[in-house]
Amino acid sequence: MKIVGVEQALVEAELVGGLLACPSCQGTLGPWGHARERVTRRFSGDWRWRPRRARCRGCQGTHVLLADLCLLRRQDGVEVIGAAIEARVGGEGHRPIAARLGVPAGTVRGWLRRFAVNAEVMRVLFTRSAVALDPELGPIVPAGGGVADALEAIAVAGRAWVLRFGPWPVWRIVSRLSAGGLLARNTSSLATGRW
Ligand SMILES: [Zn+2]
Repeated sequence: MKIVGVEQALVEAELVGGLLACPSCQGTLGPWGHARERVTRRFSGDWRWRPRRARCRGCQGTHVLLADLCLLRRQDGVEVIGAAIEARVGGEGHRPIAARLGVPAGTVRGWLRRFAVNAEVMRVLFTRSAVALDPELGPIVPAGGGVADALEAIAVAGRAWVLRFGPWPVWRIVSRLSAGGLLARNTSSLATGRW
C-alpha cells in the first residue's frame, strides 16, 4: 500500500512518468492495473472508486495506491475518523460521537481504542514530521498526556505542512504522513511505510 493524492489524473501522470517511489525499495513504480472497487464513507456520502495498482520495476513488488482520504483497512474516510478522535480528546464519549457521525458505536470505540494504543508512536512520528517540515519549530507543549499529546503533535505537523506546501485538510495530511497507518494494528513497519 502507498498513500497518494486523490486526483486520479495527477496520480496517473506521476505513475506513467516514473515519479512514484516504491515503499519497499524506493525503486520506480509503474502502472499495473487496478485493485478491486472499494467504497469509502465520507461526510459528503459514499465514494466508490477503484484504486490504481502499481508494480515496482526494481523489486517487482505490487502496491495499491490508496488515496489520502483513507486509512489502511478502514472503510470510513480519514476525516470522519479524525472528527471522532478530536471529539474524544474534547471529552465526548464514543456513543454520542457515533450517533452524531452516523457510525456504529462499536466502530467508533474500535478507532478510539486503537488510537489510544498507538498514541505514543503517533506522537513521536508527527513530532518528527513537524520538525522535518519546519526546522525552526519550537518545542511542542505537552497537552495532558496520551491521546491529547498525540493530537497536539498531529496539529503541529499539520500546520508545518500547510506552511510549507499550502492549505490541505489536516486529516489528509495525517493519512500521508502516517502512510495510512494511523490506526494500524502493527506500527513497527511505520518508519518504512511497508504494510
Ligand atoms: Zn520496490
